[in-house]
Amino acid sequence: MRLWIKQPLAVLAEGADGGVVVEGARIVELVARGATPSAPVDASFDASRHVLLPGLVNAHHHFYQTLARAHPAGLQLDLIPWLLALYPIWARMDARDLRLATRVALAELLLSGCTTAADHHNLFPPGLEHAIDIQVEEARALGVRMTVTRGAMSFSTREGGLPPENVVQADDVVLADCERVARAYHDPSPGSMMRIAFAPCSPFAVHKPLMPDLAALAERLDVRLHTHLCQVEDEERFCVEAHGLRPVDFLDSVGWLNERVWLAHAVHFNNRDIARLGAAGVGVCHLAAADMWLAAGICPTRDFELAGSPVGLGVDGSSSNDSSNMMEAVRHSLLLQRLRYGPTRVTPRDALRWASVGGAKCLGRDDIGAIAVGRQADLALFRLDAPRFSGAHDLLAALVLCGAHRADRVMVNGEWRVVDGAVVGLDLAALLAEHAAAARKFA
Ligand SMILES: [Zn+2]
Repeated sequence: MRLWIKQPLAVLAEGADGGVVVEGARIVELVARGATPSAPVDASFDASRHVLLPGLVNAHHHFYQTLARAHPAGLQLDLIPWLLALYPIWARMDARDLRLATRVALAELLLSGCTTAADHHNLFPPGLEHAIDIQVEEARALGVRMTVTRGAMSFSTREGGLPPENVVQADDVVLADCERVARAYHDPSPGSMMRIAFAPCSPFAVHKPLMPDLAALAERLDVRLHTHLCQVEDEERFCVEAHGLRPVDFLDSVGWLNERVWLAHAVHFNNRDIARLGAAGVGVCHLAAADMWLAAGICPTRDFELAGSPVGLGVDGSSSNDSSNMMEAVRHSLLLQRLRYGPTRVTPRDALRWASVGGAKCLGRDDIGAIAVGRQADLALFRLDAPRFSGAHDLLAALVLCGAHRADRVMVNGEWRVVDGAVVGLDLAALLAEHAAAARKFA
């Protein structure tokens, strides 16, 4: 079927003022202002009250944390004590909890215009050994494109690490399950709806030999690598104490300084580090809300881009954001980066680029993240009829500056997944009631 999404109010693409034509799962034509599609279409959607964006890409999240939002245990703590306070709470998670948490996070993301998400699941208490399988099932049910990152923690408090004993797994268990889930679910083909990546929670949460072992396995199975690094200043000291190396040297020593890798946060790197990461093509996911909340610092996004690193955005886990709204993440990032770089070096379109094509590059993809012929038909459409937009002039800038946060329509892979502001096929009220009841256990 050929569908013309017709004459949007504004569109984040060159030469598409008359809209786009979608056929099957892909964009097949951009229509110029005042023009009509070059061949007959089977249907059209009147987008004359919508601003059209490429579907947003969320490059880092922890879905399970939707059950522990705004938790009193974490309201006044730095990153490390915050983790220590919340690990025992998160560790109560069972399979049903994770299923509900994942479903809520995916619904929130869709409703905010997100069409592709990377989730960093690193919590594997007894009973949750099949966490990745649950996430894959839930993403498929709602039709969200995913990179599910198989996380890992193996260095527990017993050995001087941070996570409690009941959430870590032995290195050989981690490796075997990484291989299992990659073989079961990873689809590297263009247009893929499901990819797997390997993602130790941080280089300090696992034993050092696991890092090169995961890099070698990722090379063999052609999956990407992800981890948290240098959100807070102390991490450099930990890295030197634990491994005798500064963070970038450490990445290099374990085979993680290459374009297969994207990092979450990347706040505290000096200019020489940034040049090395950029030259290696390591991607960076900027997580503005979490970095502001934990008072971590400001990621040097423009320096990373100039050095050659892809830069994407993420919402981060719901214990440190605490919403899963990608349009809010765009706004947070714009404002925080203006604070760092001043008004001439960061614009609303920069933030939208990070949230779309930049995030796609972090996930190793050139088939999503832009409105262009041949890309997958992942689209987000926003209406501007709420009071907050009244009087706006540059309508793409208005989405970010006036604070768009709920999409009216979202298409993933050529299928409408949000219609009239509701997730297709989901009883949201029933889900939220079930999720709220499940959250009581995490009080
Ligand atoms: Zn995170």
